Formats: sequence, C-alpha cells, structure tokens
Amino acid sequence: MEQKLRTETLCIQAGYSPKSGEPRQIPIYQSTTFKYATSEDMGKLFDLEAEGYFYSRLANPTCDAVAAKIAALEGGTAAMLTSSGQAATFYAVFNIASCGDHIVSSSAIYGGSFNLFNVTMRRMGIDFTFVSPDCTEEELNAAFKPNTKAVFGETIANPALNVLDIEKFAKAAHAHGVPLIVDNTFATPINCRPFEWGADIVTHSTTKYMDGHASAVGGCIVDSGKFDWTQHADKFPGLCTPDESYHGVTYTERFGLAGAYITKCTAQLMRDLGSVQSPQSAYYLNLGLESLPFRMKQHCSNAQKIAEYLQSNEKVAWVKYCGLKGDQYYYLAQKYLPGGSCGVISFGLKGGRSAAETFMKNMRLGSIETHVADSRTCCLHPASTTHRQMTDAELDAAGVGADLIRLSCGLENAEDLIADLAQAIEKV
Ligand SMILES: *Cc1c(COP(=O)(O)O)cnc(C)c1O
Repeated sequence: MEQKLRTETLCIQAGYSPKSGEPRQIPIYQSTTFKYATSEDMGKLFDLEAEGYFYSRLANPTCDAVAAKIAALEGGTAAMLTSSGQAATFYAVFNIASCGDHIVSSSAIYGGSFNLFNVTMRRMGIDFTFVSPDCTEEELNAAFKPNTKAVFGETIANPALNVLDIEKFAKAAHAHGVPLIVDNTFATPINCRPFEWGADIVTHSTTKYMDGHASAVGGCIVDSGKFDWTQHADKFPGLCTPDESYHGVTYTERFGLAGAYITKCTAQLMRDLGSVQSPQSAYYLNLGLESLPFRMKQHCSNAQKIAEYLQSNEKVAWVKYCGLKGDQYYYLAQKYLPGGSCGVISFGLKGGRSAAETFMKNMRLGSIETHVADSRTCCLHPASTTHRQMTDAELDAAGVGADLIRLSCGLENAEDLIADLAQAIEKV
C-alpha cells in the first residue's frame, strides 16, 4: 500500500501506524532490553524464529520505524539504521566482502569513505580499485577481478560534486555478478532513487540532509531486494550457506531476497560490532524526514540562485554546480536529478588562496564549519582547514584546489544569502 503513496506522504506517514489509543508521534523506546514471560518465548527470538525485540543493540522499535520509513522512501524492501554514515558504509561493504575479496569504487567519494576503504579495510585484507566516475565502460570493466564482490559510488560526490552515471555502474556490476552500492547522502531519495536506475543497495549519512538541522549523527543502509545472491552463490557464501554463528541459518533461504542482506547485516555485524543508532537520535532523524521534501526544494532553489549569481560576479573565477548549464555534469543531472540535486556548490575566486581567505573572514550569515547539508548556510576553505597539511600540488591532485570554497546553501532567504556573499566578495 505504501508503494502507491507519493514522497511527501511517505515522509509523514510511512514506518509507523499507531493503533487505536497509541501515541500519534513515534515513541522513543529508551530501553536497552525487553521483557518476556518464558525462556522459550525469548529463545525463539534468538533463533530468528519469531519476530520481536530483546536487546537494543540488535533491534529497537523506534529505530525500526524510522528505518522502515527510509526503506519506503528509497523503494527498498528492508533497511537498518547505524550510528553514523561511516558505519553504514563499512557494514554495507563488509556484509558481502571479507579478507581476500576486492571492491571496485568510484574515486570521487567522501574523504572518510576513501580512508575507510584505502587504509582501514585494506588492513583487514580487502582490496580496492578506484576508478574515475567519468571512466569509459571499457575502463570500468577492466577494474573487475575474479574476487570482486561489489561496486561502490556516490550519487553526488562530496565534495567533488561529480554526478554518478548510475546505469553505467549498475550495468558493469551486474555483468560481473555483483551488486552496486550507492551512497545517496547528497541527493536524498527526494531527488534520486538509485534503485530505479539499477543500484542494489543504498547507504546514507543521515547526519546530512535527512536530519538537516545538525542535531544527530547517524546512518542508514537500504536493500532493494532485487539482487539475486543465489545466482552467484559461490561469490556470496555468507548469504547463501549456513551461518554457524546463528544455528546454521541460511539467510537467503530463511528470509528470501527481500530480507537476507539486512537480516545478515543486523544478526552478524550489528551483533558483533554494535554501531547502533540511539532511539533518541532516530526520533530526531524522523522529525527531519517529515520536512525533507520541502527543505530539499529550498536548498536546491537557493543553491541554483546563488550559483547563477556567483557565475555573474566578475571576481569569481569558476563555479561548480550541476544545475548550471555548461557544468560538466549538467546532462547527467538532468537525467538522474531532474527535480534538483543538492544545496552544495563549490567555487573559486580570482586571486586564489588569499582571496579565499579574505572571503571567509568576511562572511557573516555563512558560518565556517566542516559540516554540510544543514538548515544554516555554511562554508569551508579546505586548503586552510581540513586539507591544510597538503601542498598546492597535492591539493590539485586531490581535486581540491587551493582556491576552492565549498558552500552549503541553507534554508535562509536567497536574497539575504546573495547580499552576504556580495559584501564578502567585495572585500577581496
Ligand atoms: C558525511 C558523509 C559520510 C559519513 O557520514 P557520517 O555520518 O559523518 O559518519 C558518508 N558519505 C557522505 C557522502 C557524506 O557526506
């Protein structure tokens, strides 16, 4: 029934339907444990034979309701919340890859994801090949190895702002018998639903637009239920053969394609690693989700107006925003993000690094933060903050030039933001 409802309705109604006399708002189940009448009753839960709650590291009703809402928004069959976007990325990959396996990833991904893959997960014996999101199909296909278990990319890359050709990546992944995992944080399901373009699993840092008010760090993993693990059972023994740590359950047999991936991820990874989102954070996330469609419209409309303004200012050297005609990703954005992309822009001023520093000192409404995707406009000059240990040559190689300013357009009035930018640029 939820499938037929439109996005704005799902944002309000999906995931929680109180029965007569129950609270209208999702209750915060601030309880670590749940009580049972008999040991037999509880034993069935441990054997995954009955549904119910027993310990909040494995499942909590508040978190489950919010995860179900996100699953409905993405058009997936199952979802789980995690303590952060980092945990979501790690679990999504580690659920199907272990020591000796290999992953193909877009090189244009969030810096935290890149470190997770290139340093920490390599240490765990998982190998990664990074490909440009703009590579040809031949280059992409050449990156696969017999032990490749998944392909990873970001709908809109943070902070490079590349738009992923999801169909191209999905086609290559499926030709090699593996799923495509897409980090959909910047687009949100309001602006892009990667499953409709062939992606199999979606991850989110809910810390960004979904929360939207800089209130709570969190993450989410959603499964489309479409990838048939059993067709490639040799590649995915964890899903297709008995799990001795759970009394020999075979996830694909017991839970079907709709539930196998998320059930395994919860029953094994969350059980053993424990990166749970708190019910309190899930409650904040749900408040954010209720207004997500309206906020995304305003973020995108502000970013479009501001990008156009910056382009017209003669002190601005360049502007990167996929909503601008002439942007390298304009056509991909028209295809995958026809209703808008996100509120994040990058630009450079004539005068490079020092002009950027002067500009940053003079911004009034836009505050200096490493955060993005918040109701309040914020900006960052990576060369003098997050990336300050790098030389100019290293900055260029990383695609974050010494002049680059990242601007996350908030929900304020666009005219006020433009006036603020204008006075700060004027001082340069
Ligand atoms: C912030 C971010 C992450 C990491 O999320 P946290 O909630 O900070 O752990 C992952 N992917 C993208 C695209 C992000 O912007």
